[in-house]
Amino acid sequence: MEKETEVLVVGAGPTGLLLAAELALAGVRTDIVERRTRPQRDSRALNLHPRSLELMDQRGLSDRFLAAGRTVPGWQFAATLRTPLDFSALASPHPHALLLAQSHTEALLEERAQELGARIHRGHEVTVLRQKDDSVEVGLRGPTGPTSVRAAYVVGCDGARSIVRRAADIAFPGTDESFTAMVGDFATADHAHLDRARQHGVLIARLEPGLTRFVVMDPERIRVPSTTPVTPDEFRTALLRICGTDCGVGRPTWLSRFGNATRLAEHYRSGRLLLAGDAAHIHFPVGAQGLNTGLQDAMNLGWKLAAHIRGWAAPSLLDTYHAERHPVGRAVTERSEAQTLLVELPLVERYHRPATLLCELLDTLLGLAEVNRYLAGQLSALDTAYPPATPAAHPLTGRRMPDLPLALPGGRQTRTYELLHDGRFVLLHLSTAHTDFTTPAPVTTVTARTSVQDPDLDGTTEILIRPDGHIAWATHTTDPRMLHAERTRLLNNWIRPTHG
Ligand SMILES: Cc1cc2nc3c(=O)[nH]c(=O)nc-3n(C[C@H](O)[C@H](O)[C@H](O)COP(=O)(O)OP(=O)(O)OC[C@H]3O[C@@H](n4cnc5c(N)ncnc54)[C@H](O)[C@@H]3O)c2cc1C
Repeated sequence: MEKETEVLVVGAGPTGLLLAAELALAGVRTDIVERRTRPQRDSRALNLHPRSLELMDQRGLSDRFLAAGRTVPGWQFAATLRTPLDFSALASPHPHALLLAQSHTEALLEERAQELGARIHRGHEVTVLRQKDDSVEVGLRGPTGPTSVRAAYVVGCDGARSIVRRAADIAFPGTDESFTAMVGDFATADHAHLDRARQHGVLIARLEPGLTRFVVMDPERIRVPSTTPVTPDEFRTALLRICGTDCGVGRPTWLSRFGNATRLAEHYRSGRLLLAGDAAHIHFPVGAQGLNTGLQDAMNLGWKLAAHIRGWAAPSLLDTYHAERHPVGRAVTERSEAQTLLVELPLVERYHRPATLLCELLDTLLGLAEVNRYLAGQLSALDTAYPPATPAAHPLTGRRMPDLPLALPGGRQTRTYELLHDGRFVLLHLSTAHTDFTTPAPVTTVTARTSVQDPDLDGTTEILIRPDGHIAWATHTTDPRMLHAERTRLLNNWIRPTHG
């Protein structure tokens, strides 16, 4: 490993791998250090939600992911409620979730990061970080002994116990675990009993042919700390107690216990140290949002950090990472606490009946299309929007760009997500009245027409799409001089102004 780099990403989990790929795409010299010597084979997460699939689509990767997993129409809200959230009601090119083991997601992201030139150093554990005015000194324990590297920026994608977060002295307030569940992957299971187990609130997923996942919340074991290892006997006994059958489970390939500790980093940045993914937020995996939120952090941070390093960012751009993603982290952790309570209460004897009644009521509400759509929009992250820099902004500002079909001059057809593959800004002229755009930022300028009828798009003449697929700015203005002035004023928030 060389002694200097531009960005050192700590942790080759899904967040670190996508971030490294995004930085490398923008031409930033990027190294990932990972203390594990080989990729993780056990899979905690099992899914990609619609917004994560859109992000992969915006980089031309969705075919790889879709080919590796299995699409499902929605996801369970609060895990044990009967009525699932229906993603098919959402306006997206990917109105479904993808069942895909975390190990496969990581393998695909690692392939992508390496294709783009990011270097991954396994068996390297960060032991100390010292932040200086112009760089960060990082001490590592490597395969051949202690070593060190100097980086302009370090991003902690190093999970819940992040050493980067501690070195940055960033507080991680929240609540300790009070409730745990057991997870087990089994090579054999008697499928005749699986429906019965489901009826008793045991969660079951077919991971791949011959491998079934069980998640068990046994009222007798929910206060056992997550640090206590799960034994095969304990798991089998819990299944027997809850369902009256052990579902014929054979030898487990993986057993673990996880809890509802919920914490959110107070800041996502301290000078040259930044946090993303589980290093910044942890929660009970109900709703299946941890990995997905980490990917969305990485997508938000990648282009901003690259812009900062390449020198075209306005001074405040990098701080918009915290400003935009911290409220999302707060919303995700708070909603997961609410969902976890809905899972936990029916298991606690003294709340059993009222909690069951409450769950029945919520099940009825989830049957209402409006309620289902609202919660599906949140869980899928398709409704995530960032506040516009000015109050009078166009209604699309900050929202995710829809995947519009576009007709280019000369008749060629494309769509907006295809235009984002190389991670540049896209300036989309939907009217012929436009001016040239001089900026140090990498921008692809496209003139096109769309056949999509959408009240928010009606009369829109120009849209500037950020590299992460959110709308930087849009306008109804047709006067070229006003267009230029409006665009320049708004973009000064993000892009270093050019003169002339
Ligand atoms: C049982 C369970 C089920 C889950 N299911 C889902 C789900 O269905 N959907 C979902 O979205 N999320 C789910 N999650 C959450 C998801 O697994 C995490 O949110 C996700 O792994 C976070 O990714 P990350 O890259 O931020 O961190 P991690 O995956 O934790 O990766 C951090 C990496 O940093 C490395 N590291 C740590 N310290 C150092 C150091 N000092 N030096 C070098 N390397 C270091 C670690 O070895 C690790 O590889 C689940 C979690 C659990 C426990």
